[in-house]
Amino acid sequence: MLNNQENLEYLCKLSNVVSKKISPVNSINAINKLLKTYLNINKTEIIIWDNNSMLLKSFGDDLKLYDDKNSEKEINYIYSSLSVFNGSKFYFNENEFDCDLKEEEQYQITELKSDNNTIIFPLVANNEVFGLLKTDSEKTTYTKDFFSLLNITSKLISGAVINYILNDQMEVSLNFYKAMKDIAKIIESQYELSYIIPMIGEMIDRFISSHLIYIFIYKDDEYKLVWPSACKDESVYKLLKKINLKTEYILSDNSKIGVFPLISEDTILGAIAAYSNIEKLLQKDIDYLVQLTRQSGLTIQRANVYAEVLQYATLDALTGLNNRRQFEIRIKQEVANATRNDTPLCGLMMDIDYFKKVNDTYGHAAGDCVLKQISDIIRNELREYDIACRYGGEEFFIILPQTKVAEATAVAQRLRKVIEESKINIKEAGVNGVNYIKITASIGVCEYNFELNANSFIQKADKALYEAKTTGRNRVIVF
Ligand code: GH3
Ligand code: MG
Ligand code: MG
Repeated sequence: MLNNQENLEYLCKLSNVVSKKISPVNSINAINKLLKTYLNINKTEIIIWDNNSMLLKSFGDDLKLYDDKNSEKEINYIYSSLSVFNGSKFYFNENEFDCDLKEEEQYQITELKSDNNTIIFPLVANNEVFGLLKTDSEKTTYTKDFFSLLNITSKLISGAVINYILNDQMEVSLNFYKAMKDIAKIIESQYELSYIIPMIGEMIDRFISSHLIYIFIYKDDEYKLVWPSACKDESVYKLLKKINLKTEYILSDNSKIGVFPLISEDTILGAIAAYSNIEKLLQKDIDYLVQLTRQSGLTIQRANVYAEVLQYATLDALTGLNNRRQFEIRIKQEVANATRNDTPLCGLMMDIDYFKKVNDTYGHAAGDCVLKQISDIIRNELREYDIACRYGGEEFFIILPQTKVAEATAVAQRLRKVIEESKINIKEAGVNGVNYIKITASIGVCEYNFELNANSFIQKADKALYEAKTTGRNRVIVF
């Protein structure tokens, strides 16, 4: 019976739609159209049961939960359909029929008449019902053919929809693993907690969008909030108190809040708390947070160990220039030398222009490439007894002993120009299609005099730098 011309045409067009790689919205629209034209069905919906959130979702309307826009009665009805179905039954106005239509049921079906009839067919994959095809029609008579066509329709759609869902899940996991790799990279190159923590926070924010995220460091028997700046929710602190070394995570009674300890070896280092903006934390997000905290625990542990080692280190790990600690020692020495021997002394305070943009556009690995190469340039341009230091993130201080201001200004101009003309290689950062970028820097120059001490000397260089920034960047200003 099914092989009449029109039915075949319908099936042909439908299999065309489901085999095409189009977005869920487009495919649901196309299916809707076909069902309207050939089967006289007003409205078609594909409803998916989401295992992670344990909620119904409208396929093709990703952002909306199915529950958001429907009456409670209908929702209950759909939930019960899902639980009763084993994939071999369909619903027609709340009556149950075998998908495998038997002759004796045909009569029953043609007798059912009403203004608006709801038919629900199961979507099945691996012998499990994962969703429903729900249609509404105003037909007055229903034939066995009609239901047979809907049965085939639901089977054809099942394959396409489950493929889409799996692809989607895979993409999310791929992105997640990429983020995990990023964190691992930070472990290798960054040791300062003040720098690592916001990065971890931002990374979590990328994946767990419908939640507020808080990061705490455990110190002196207390959880101290380190990111963002405020957490007013008392219940978060209450949950934190329950953490012990064996905790994987703890959820609040309403499942809206979760705390995930940062543990390394036998120490609690801190915790990440997530506060859901929707009904509750989703299992998927809980799984992410468990993995992220595991990885972050390692990062923070390293940072703590590094902080201890740092007390003895003189060079900055990323750039190989003198580190901040060493800078503080060297500048005092040079100021003392200049005072004692009555010799000239100059300082250059340099800051990379729009560096945040480099990080934001190409990633932090690219930012690190820039820092390394700028440091190489600085090393190359200086004399042996000049002292180059990494003062802060992307700020450098260069101490120029035995140097008058005119000479120092020339050095600064030369540096600025070489940087401006260099092609900075960021290949290592693995940014698609971008191997080189252009960078500029601003420099403040200051000459030491006897009225100054080390601190005011640095401040004056910083003031000159500030002026270089405010008057357009990529320039040298002498205090
Ligand atoms: P301006 O021209 O005014 O100097 O703008 P800017 O974007 O360079 O200035 P800002 O001080 O706002 O940005 C500095 C950025 O440097 C912020 C921080 O994320 C980044 N940063 C600090 N340390 C490091 C590091 O070790 N590696 C990388 N990749 N980025 C860092
Ligand atoms: Mg800068
Ligand atoms: Mg800066």
